[in-house]
Amino acid sequence: MSRWVAIAVAVTALCAVTATPASAHGWGPSGSPGAAGLGDPYFPLDGNGGYDTRHYLLDLRYDPATDMLRGIATIRARATQNLSSFNLDLYALTVRSITVDGRSATWTRDAHELTVIPRRTLRRHERFVVAIRYDGVPQTEVDPSLGEGGFFNTDDGSLVAGQPHGAAGWYPVNDHPLDKAAYTFRVTVPAGLEVLANGVLRSRRTQHHSTTWEWNAPDPMASYLTTVDIGQFNIHSYRARGLRYWDGVDPDLYTRPVPRTGGQFAISQSADSTYKRLVHTVDVPAGGGQMSFWVNRDTEENWDFFFVEAHTVGRDDWTTLPDANGHTSGDTGFVCPFSLELHPFLAHYESDNDDGTCSPTGTTGTWSAVSGFSGGYEQWSIDLSAYAGKRIELSLSYASDDLYNFGGVEVDDITMPGGAGSTSFENDGNTLDGWTVPGAPAGSAANANDWIAGTSADTPTPVGQLVDQALAREPDAIAFLSNLFGRYPFVAAGGIVDDLRGLGFALETQTRPVYALDFFEDRNGPPNSSVIVHELAHQWTGDSLAVAAWQHIWLNEGFATYSEWLWSEEEGQASAQEIFDAVTSRPADDPFWTLKIGDPGPDQLFDTPVYDRGAATLHALRLKIGPDAFFRLLRLWVRRNAGGNVTTAQFIALAERVSGQDLGAFFDEWLFTPARPASLPPTVATRRAAKEVRAADRRHALERLRR
Ligand SMILES: [Zn+2]
Repeated sequence: MSRWVAIAVAVTALCAVTATPASAHGWGPSGSPGAAGLGDPYFPLDGNGGYDTRHYLLDLRYDPATDMLRGIATIRARATQNLSSFNLDLYALTVRSITVDGRSATWTRDAHELTVIPRRTLRRHERFVVAIRYDGVPQTEVDPSLGEGGFFNTDDGSLVAGQPHGAAGWYPVNDHPLDKAAYTFRVTVPAGLEVLANGVLRSRRTQHHSTTWEWNAPDPMASYLTTVDIGQFNIHSYRARGLRYWDGVDPDLYTRPVPRTGGQFAISQSADSTYKRLVHTVDVPAGGGQMSFWVNRDTEENWDFFFVEAHTVGRDDWTTLPDANGHTSGDTGFVCPFSLELHPFLAHYESDNDDGTCSPTGTTGTWSAVSGFSGGYEQWSIDLSAYAGKRIELSLSYASDDLYNFGGVEVDDITMPGGAGSTSFENDGNTLDGWTVPGAPAGSAANANDWIAGTSADTPTPVGQLVDQALAREPDAIAFLSNLFGRYPFVAAGGIVDDLRGLGFALETQTRPVYALDFFEDRNGPPNSSVIVHELAHQWTGDSLAVAAWQHIWLNEGFATYSEWLWSEEEGQASAQEIFDAVTSRPADDPFWTLKIGDPGPDQLFDTPVYDRGAATLHALRLKIGPDAFFRLLRLWVRRNAGGNVTTAQFIALAERVSGQDLGAFFDEWLFTPARPASLPPTVATRRAAKEVRAADRRHALERLRR
């Protein structure tokens, strides 16, 4: 336990909520209960006082068929006071037995606290071992402001990623970055499944249809940085520049969509800024009728949409038609009103509310559409009875915005009233059966590609290949970051990508970050090495140097984001100065400037300014103290605090020492003033930097997306 813990305990002991009697025995020292929290101003009950953990052995059994987790957590710790009882954080799971130094102990529970009462008082400085047998079905924690985190059940196993806490959802833990420890994960799963965790793979043994994987993470680690990921994974282990890597990617991410029937289907393909139409004219019978088809969708939720358009031939009565099976809604997404600039034709169905949102009603019709991932084929049924007896033009349409284009949509097995236009797009001499591909409507840019009829092999690159290309940059990223911060701090590296749709964030889990696959879905840009650099930068700033309290979060996110800026420059993309200019060109009345990133509050921990203003603070510091002092400061900051916990005050003090300047006013303006720094010159953002900023905003929007 660092001295920061000692201070925190002294404060929180006053408000300890445990009600455990002191040792009932008449011998030994008298003890008092350890505090139920470490006194973090944002999360006062996270972590516990009175002891310091050294090592966790998590011996776990997990069965994806039932989601049941059975565990024995063996925790080696040292008392920092005479303890009559002490707490661990544990959420929801059932405790079966507890021993302290091999002797059974009693315990009490409340929502997040497990209070352990050993048979005798533990003396200050005494080392002890607590072993807890527990089981249950772990629940994903849902924070109303920060979203989901912790333990996620996946289609074939589980995934763990949660910040600022979440470890307590799957093992008993002193759940605060102030109490780092080494970990050993011994995880038994049905044979045929893989297990990834932090650190180094020590062994893998199969017996009686079960496989036990043992991962060892000897470097001290904050509990929120622990991860165990179970399921089908392609594990790629290799060594580069003396460092061992384990990457795990879900094999499902390499599969391509296949036609629902036959050998061909209609494929939208993938490109930015497109409005693709697959069009057919139909004479709707006098008694009405319906169109039906099957669609497989993988589009960027809220930004790219699939919909059915219709208008009477010769008339400007355009509208979109709802799916009678319920897949469409009037939701205009995040992309509107921007979409109206990109695709003015959409004004037929959507209108700008002039407050950043849109209404699902336009000049001639209404908006019914869908966005996101369908997870396989879904059948749509479009009622055409409103057009009974008329000749209409129907269009299966896909509109994309200018960033991050996913795999797109595939359509198969269309049936039309009257039969003409019914098709499976087979290669039978009349592949399109009367359907045409007229290109984007007036006002939109020309489509870079468009609907085709083709086979599975003609679909866009599977995301797994894009993941591989991005993960292949890990050694380059680590070499780059080592130049910036000094030697890589841990025994191993790697990354984990599961097919958990809607995870929506990446987390710098120590040695092996977990990435939402959304980050790699873009079929049109270069592989996303930016997010790799971000999470790997955290290995130094966030993991090796962990926050002493959550209010210092900008020391994590500002540094990781600034690493992305420097990497962008290194890669020949926008320079750090250009991105800084773009970020700071936000006008003074932009809400971006209202967050005090030096103390953002528990609900704003991961808001955009913590990242972008944090990075801008570092760039402004570089401009103020000069590049030599700045880059010397970065290395010194990391070297002095390696393996420990850090505060903003410590960083300011070191920056003043290295630069020889009084930086109080500078940091006050950048970190603690809810306004655009007055010292900023007026700036003009370059086009590519402005796009960079929008991409960053998009990543943050992704982070807020939850299933
Ligand atoms: Zn981050």
